[in-house]
Amino acid sequence: MRIETIAVHAGHNVDGGSGAVAQPITLSVTFERDDEGHYPRGYFYSSKGNPNRNALESAFAALEQGDIAVAFASGCAAIAGIFRTLRPGDHVLVPNDVFQGTIRILREILAKWGFAYSAVEMTDSDAIRAAFQDNTRLVWMETLSNPMLRVTDVELVSALAHERGAISVVDNTFVTPVLQQPLAQGADLVVHATTKYIGGHGDVLGGIVVAPESNRNIQEIRQIQLLEGSVMSPFDSWLTHRGLKTLACRMRTHAANALQVASALERHPLVGSVYYPGLSSHPQFELAKRQLHEGFGGIVSVRVRGGPEAANAVCGKVRVFTHATSFGSTESLIQRQASSPTHGPGTDVPEDLLRLSIGLEHPEDLIDDLTRALEAAELEVRAKA
Ligand SMILES: *Cc1c(COP(=O)(O)O)cnc(C)c1O
Repeated sequence: MRIETIAVHAGHNVDGGSGAVAQPITLSVTFERDDEGHYPRGYFYSSKGNPNRNALESAFAALEQGDIAVAFASGCAAIAGIFRTLRPGDHVLVPNDVFQGTIRILREILAKWGFAYSAVEMTDSDAIRAAFQDNTRLVWMETLSNPMLRVTDVELVSALAHERGAISVVDNTFVTPVLQQPLAQGADLVVHATTKYIGGHGDVLGGIVVAPESNRNIQEIRQIQLLEGSVMSPFDSWLTHRGLKTLACRMRTHAANALQVASALERHPLVGSVYYPGLSSHPQFELAKRQLHEGFGGIVSVRVRGGPEAANAVCGKVRVFTHATSFGSTESLIQRQASSPTHGPGTDVPEDLLRLSIGLEHPEDLIDDLTRALEAAELEVRAKA
């Protein structure tokens, strides 16, 4: 079946008890045993198994072409779960512009347990080769980097990892399985912050890890989830699963809108550079076309002529966009990335760069909003000078 059908039907059955077509939310912590003490329905305690979480996990495993999916309370909890399958003394390669939460887990928590990591330019295969150490066990990738939207060649980097006896992990949050399925491209594990496009409405946190059944790490990740109780709650699972059903339509619209906005901004005299992998001006446009299907994601980054002051002013002048962090929701968001509280020191994001999360509004309204805000910001900055 195709991804739209899988998204709607996988993990979903009409409720056997009531006939409810939409799955009921099961809040019960404990489940009844039969006269012999068995658990005839397969559930016995909510942190070990819950119908809403199980439904989401089986739907998601199918969407990413894996067998097992493990749902955590947040994206960061899922990421931490993956790293904790390593052993003290192991070494990890991460992209030099990796999501700040990922690097902070390695640097501030796992370093104490004897893990080491190196940050490397994941678009440069020579740099990756040179960064491997004898104890490198895991190579981390992001399908698109944040906020520069660099494209990592998942097939190539996974092959490099495998040559050296390491596993490859892809954080696929930026593009989702609708646009790219990294397991089919050679990755061993895929992880998502479902907080973003999967939930899709900006109202629920979550994280999920997916792999084939044969993967040893996923069995250990399941154990970490169950023993430590770092689970996605029933209500959060239900919301996330509901989001999943419309993911394919939403991703196509996010991506089509983003391409229109990116193309319009590329022609605007107050915009310096536009970063979007669907533009032929993107240095990795050919790789993006090969690796992604049905669109290039919903994030566009732009540098504003007039510097950080003008970029800040744009954030104050938009009316359709909301000035806030995060991405992947129905409404468009804007922020000057270097001003974000999650933007730690040591990153090289240009000070005048705006990251736009393109929502599901009409693209012309978004373009009008940005054009008006850019022009008003320019006038304001010029008046102050
Ligand atoms: C947001 C995000 C995360 C973390 O997810 P949380 O649910 O906020 O913990 C991880 N990776 C990427 C790429 C993200 O954008």
